[in-house]
Amino acid sequence: MILGALETGGTKFVCATGDENGVISDRAVIPTTSPEETLEAVKKFFSGKRIEALGIGSFGPLCLDKSSPDYGHITSTPKPGWSNTDIVSPFEKALGCPVRLDTDVNAAALGEAVFGHASGSAAGKTGSDNLLYVTIGTGIGVGVYIDGHLLHGAMHAESGHIFVARHPDDRYEGKCPFHKDCFEGLASGPAIEGRFGIRGELIPFNAPGSENASFTGTEKAWDIEAYYIAQACVNYTLCYSPKVIVLGGGVMNHPELFPMIRSYYKRFMNNYVKNPYTENPDSYIVPATLSGDQGILGCLCLAKSALTE
Ligand code: ZN
Repeated sequence: MILGALETGGTKFVCATGDENGVISDRAVIPTTSPEETLEAVKKFFSGKRIEALGIGSFGPLCLDKSSPDYGHITSTPKPGWSNTDIVSPFEKALGCPVRLDTDVNAAALGEAVFGHASGSAAGKTGSDNLLYVTIGTGIGVGVYIDGHLLHGAMHAESGHIFVARHPDDRYEGKCPFHKDCFEGLASGPAIEGRFGIRGELIPFNAPGSENASFTGTEKAWDIEAYYIAQACVNYTLCYSPKVIVLGGGVMNHPELFPMIRSYYKRFMNNYVKNPYTENPDSYIVPATLSGDQGILGCLCLAKSALTE
């Protein structure tokens, strides 16, 4: 079975062909320019490859309501030129195969659930059918995979913009253009840079009060970050009841954050929820697997599901 996968982003589109087992046979990266030029280059990649279906994980916001005339469109994105762009029917017409669209983070959650934490890792033994994928980078997005299904509801979850309690030492106003100090506004990469005037990857991990702190004022940077991420994870546990929470994205390239997040998580949860998953944060709050391929692999899963819908 040859399936097509397309991951769209603000700077690049990743196209791939592969099979239902997650084996990728061909791949190309196309820079995101105008919709016309970019979609044409994607069609060119897939033409002649005889894919049976295409799965798309896209940046948004998206309309995923099949009863709406806007279904399959990127709606009101700040990305110049891309508002109200149909990214489903042009491919259905050009490639003559079914197309299934979902959000980029839902695709990543699906990829982790099917090929990552579901399939053999320590967390995967418990986490296959109920998994959250949280990406913390330029923005914060959450893919929700519960009881074997991606969650949509009226539109799709936007759990990166939940509200969290302030760290006692944080006076930063917040970076979210809509809410200022929502979770994304306080904990995304741009929020870290906005708070300290320095990019997160340049801020060292120093113990609080350490003599070695290289940048004045950043000593608590990671404590603040872990404080917010842990609260979000508590909220996600309470609202979605996942069996594992996978944290990915650029900010999470700091492995030192994980024990700090788990420690705050235990403190905030305070034994309220008692089950084998949440009581073991080491296997409950875990790093992404799949070397950044969870999105494109999730798109292969979307393509497969398009054949049976
Ligand atoms: Zn927000």
